[in-house]
Amino acid sequence: MFSDKFEHLVNALRILPSVGPKSAQRMALHLIMKQREGAQQLAQALENAIGYIHECQICHSLTEDDVCEICRSHERDERLLCVVESPADVMAIEQSGSYKGKYHVLGGHLSPLDGIGPNEIGIPELIQRLTNGVVQEVIIATNATVEGQATAHYLFEASKHLPISMTRIAQGVPQGGELEYVDSHTLSQALHNRMQIK
Ligand code: ZN
Repeated sequence: MFSDKFEHLVNALRILPSVGPKSAQRMALHLIMKQREGAQQLAQALENAIGYIHECQICHSLTEDDVCEICRSHERDERLLCVVESPADVMAIEQSGSYKGKYHVLGGHLSPLDGIGPNEIGIPELIQRLTNGVVQEVIIATNATVEGQATAHYLFEASKHLPISMTRIAQGVPQGGELEYVDSHTLSQALHNRMQIK
């Protein structure tokens, strides 16, 4: 086309989810023709985000520090540990305003066909965390998808020997549903009505 740099930008934009060649081209044109200043800010924001945001050493959610604000907080109930698949789930639960415990982010779900086993999503590390004698209840809040359920089941089996109560959020989260798309009210009900599984 008219510029290698333009092509380069279009290709770079295609890494975004659900962005095909046409949308990427439309975005690139929009940035260059109508939003030059906004595009500069976007570039700067991206650079800052990538440079400063990383995983929390304890819960693996995102933070600019070594340990995130939730892990550092003394206001949060450390006897309660909510296990989720991604930082997006932490955000969804926090936005529902109905949870005051701590979190553990797996960073995915079990998917043997893709080579993602317990080690890849840090299950041994989580089990280790559960042996600290502080956590009394684990709320398994993996997605209500097939993989999320399989991960919940695995976690249940792997921590069976520990003297910890386990609950699973279920009610209200539709079958096949991903937490981040569930509205705050439903999510808060789902947490409240969690089911005892151990
Ligand atoms: Zn943390």
